Amino acid sequence: AFVTGASRGIGRACAISLASAGHRVVLAARDLAKLESVAEEIRATGGTAFVSAMDLSSEDSIRAAFKQAASEAGPITILVNNAGITRDGLSMRMKREDWDAVLQTNLTGSFLCIQQVMPAMMKERWGRIVNISSVVGESGNPGQANYVASKAGLIGLTKSLAQELGSRNITVNAITPGFIDTDMTAVLSEEVKQRMLAGIPLKRFGKPEDVAAAVR
Ligand code: NAD
Repeated sequence: AFVTGASRGIGRACAISLASAGHRVVLAARDLAKLESVAEEIRATGGTAFVSAMDLSSEDSIRAAFKQAASEAGPITILVNNAGITRDGLSMRMKREDWDAVLQTNLTGSFLCIQQVMPAMMKERWGRIVNISSVVGESGNPGQANYVASKAGLIGLTKSLAQELGSRNITVNAITPGFIDTDMTAVLSEEVKQRMLAGIPLKRFGKPEDVAAAVR
């Protein structure tokens, strides 16, 4: 199982959960040192983990990471497209580079990762692809036009590929988490957090492990 953005947050929780289910996991992100520390955690509990440095904004880096992963860990038959970024701001003043960075990492990067695993999954006649979208990909959110476009795009990508690949015994699903307590959301103001909390029936934010359970 190859998990992108596994150095922290939801990706880290997904990698730990899949490893505890007996899968050999490849942890990918840019920061090798952080990945190695998550891998050590997994190995300490008897799991098998590999690390792979990968920058989703570079197609060459994506190719190299999957090549390395396949040679070390064997064919990848599970892909969790989890890595993602935000560059929030109102559309009128949104810089082109902030639009491009978010679409490139969250949507194009995920598509390129899927292209890397499709041949092996078809050969194995089994595959599981899980894309981490977001509730805002369905509802929209002011100040996040780039992020929402990328997450709505992931939902469309998921539905199309599910239809392309179903006959090959490869399922493609998306998960749309609500507010999850991670570094990504830690930067939001207390006021924004309280407003979001008011709309959550359980009156608590989600945990990375909640999403990992759905992925597993
Ligand atoms: P996070 O910021 O804690 O972790 C993001 C991970 O992605 C990190 O491992 C980071 O290194 C990696 N990453 C970022 N850019 C990368 C790049 N160019 N190349 C390789 N790796 C890169 O975020 P998180 O909260 O754990 O979010 C994980 C996913 O869940 C994201 O796709 C996010 O959009 C989605 N999500 C999060 C929430 C939430 O409330 N936290 C809600 C819905 C969806």
